[in-house]
Amino acid sequence: MGQMVLEIDRSALQANYRALADKAPGARTAGVVKADGYGLGAGMVAAALSEAGAQDFFVAIASEAAAVREATGPSARIFILSGHMDGADFGDSIPVLNSPEQFFRDRAIRPGQPFAVQLDSGMNRLGFEPGEWAGLKSEIMAAGPELVMSHLACADEPDHPMNSRQLAAFRDMTDGITVPRSLAATGGILLGPDYHFDITRAGIGMYGGMPFADARPVIRLSLPVIQTRIVEAGETVGYSNTWTAQRRTRVATVAAGYADGIHRALSSDSDRARINLLAGDTPCPLVGRVSMDLITADVSALETVPDSLDLISSVQKVDDVADVIGTIGYELLTQLGGRYERRII
Ligand SMILES: *Cc1c(COP(=O)(O)O)cnc(C)c1O
Repeated sequence: MGQMVLEIDRSALQANYRALADKAPGARTAGVVKADGYGLGAGMVAAALSEAGAQDFFVAIASEAAAVREATGPSARIFILSGHMDGADFGDSIPVLNSPEQFFRDRAIRPGQPFAVQLDSGMNRLGFEPGEWAGLKSEIMAAGPELVMSHLACADEPDHPMNSRQLAAFRDMTDGITVPRSLAATGGILLGPDYHFDITRAGIGMYGGMPFADARPVIRLSLPVIQTRIVEAGETVGYSNTWTAQRRTRVATVAAGYADGIHRALSSDSDRARINLLAGDTPCPLVGRVSMDLITADVSALETVPDSLDLISSVQKVDDVADVIGTIGYELLTQLGGRYERRII
């Protein structure tokens, strides 16, 4: 039996990074590698981006920085989006301070050390409120932040009025300051130059996910076939008998399941196949329930059953699968888990 393999196309990752960087030629393009590089491996991703020209990286929490530092060398800047949480060890990374409380805590503990600031331009998730910023702006600017940033709530919908509202709020708070500014993640990069400022923060688009429709696919998820059998018309497959064969069917059992991020909502009943596994271009409908470690597929269309079937490939992309589950590529990628052999090509 083969392995479950998460194949990662390093050159596609780099090409997507460069394509996003080319859309904002006047800005530096940082790589966002939080959540272990969106599930692909933060060290591997950071090294690839570094080679492609990235000098700035963002992670969510301080403990994620070490792998990025090791992969990128001493000159890269590593920003911590959650800012200065109590007790965190920042080493040589840069907390993005999100509130007056974080600012005062950080300056007391790390005087003179580099920091950045996040402002809330309307998302109401992280960052100084406009009033807090107004009161502390001159003190904060005097301390010399590396970067002043904010984050867009609706950038994956280009026509959403929230985009221009947040842009105006961010400009209101920051026009005239002399430190670099950052507003755009992937969606913001695609909104155009008004949103680019000095540094963009590329995430999902590099990994091949929407809203970057022109991204090259980065991952292939190949699942080993353990066993095949003939199921006669009228027989059922899997837990709770949700799928009944309408005709004589060859069924393959594949070693991966919901413990590997293959969501149980991909399960099929007799009336409706929700997703296919793929043998190259040939679809093999998933039949029955997704179990913890196993799934079953109708491989009757195949002359010979290969050693493995793909759930994600250039034919069926991350977002195609995410759509069926009712989620987004981001969640699917970050749920893939530790049992895959990550194979870099
Ligand atoms: C996750 C995140 C990003 C990257 O967003 P993508 O949509 O993946 O490009 C950028 N900035 C912040 C603050 C984030 O939380």
